Amino acid sequence: MYIYLSMRRRGQVSRSKKAPRPEEVVAARNDPRLRKALDRRRKDPEWRLRGRCRTVDPETFFPEPQARESPRAALELCSNCTVRASCLASALDAGDRNGVWGGTTPRERQAMLIAWRDTVAVALSALVPIPSPAAVSAAGPGQGLGGWRRP
Ligand code: SF4
Repeated sequence: MYIYLSMRRRGQVSRSKKAPRPEEVVAARNDPRLRKALDRRRKDPEWRLRGRCRTVDPETFFPEPQARESPRAALELCSNCTVRASCLASALDAGDRNGVWGGTTPRERQAMLIAWRDTVAVALSALVPIPSPAAVSAAGPGQGLGGWRRP
């Protein structure tokens, strides 16, 4: 299914032309789905094998915008999927703005993508602080990153 989806996306990229409004980005930052996705990010590389959509027609997740099809069926499937957070994290990491992923619509993910990039950057900087050039040179040759480790 995922190979099919990738092929379809290559040929048909539908993007909403409107950028997310600031209030949408604020709402996305506080969205519990985003927090859960961040928590599950890259923790379950096998999540695709357990997705509820494995046996469902991929078209369900990519409703034609012109046909005004509702993604309701896809969202309903996602709502009971055990790998929803990993799925959303993967879509956000990939910057995927097409189709339904992790129980979110493309429009929702547009705002989430902005919040995601900020949140992931902060999370990563908390794990691996980037030393200042002054700290690196004070540590001496070859010792620049010696004092930096995960908390
Ligand atoms: S959350 Fe939705 S799109 Fe993702 S694996 Fe589950 S059913 Fe498929």
